[in-house]
Amino acid sequence: MTAYQAPGVFCQFGIQRENMMTQCVLLNADYSFLNMVHWKRAFCLMAKGKVEVVRDTQQTIRNSSGKEFKVPAVMRLIKLIRTIYRSRVAFTKRNVLTRDRFQCAYCGTRKEKLSIDHIIPKSRGGQTTFENCVAACKACNLKKGGRTPSEAKMYLNLKAFQPTISEFLRIKFENLGVYEVLKELGVY
Ligand SMILES: [Zn+2]
Repeated sequence: MTAYQAPGVFCQFGIQRENMMTQCVLLNADYSFLNMVHWKRAFCLMAKGKVEVVRDTQQTIRNSSGKEFKVPAVMRLIKLIRTIYRSRVAFTKRNVLTRDRFQCAYCGTRKEKLSIDHIIPKSRGGQTTFENCVAACKACNLKKGGRTPSEAKMYLNLKAFQPTISEFLRIKFENLGVYEVLKELGVY
């Protein structure tokens, strides 16, 4: 197994069409999810024989000699690579909101600008970690104040967990609507 490296190949496919799907899903050889790659890079990987196409889109692209190619939706690497996707996602406010799908953990609202709630309040020794922080609307955050969920009788609708990069990307794809395709292919 080798570490993953971006191919330094120059691509001949220069013209990008309006509204075309520009990102392709790249799977590892074992069908685990790796990354999203731009279609230009996808063609480079195809040209180098590094990937096989699992599913095409209906979009085509013409190269400089006039030959048409279907833009792939999902590709799989022929050779299995070691990945960093089991690593942990860094804690940031934005990443907590993404994990919680921009929904308040207590009331489920998506409308407002969300804040971060410490499940066990900071004043009570609660830490600023993925396991102790959730997205919360301002009203819920204010209502809960310096109390624990059971003291405030406010219950979490989701689990506060430290996501791996792979789990985190899956959530991002669900938000993008790509998840269903991956599920259908047995990736998740
Ligand atoms: Zn709320």
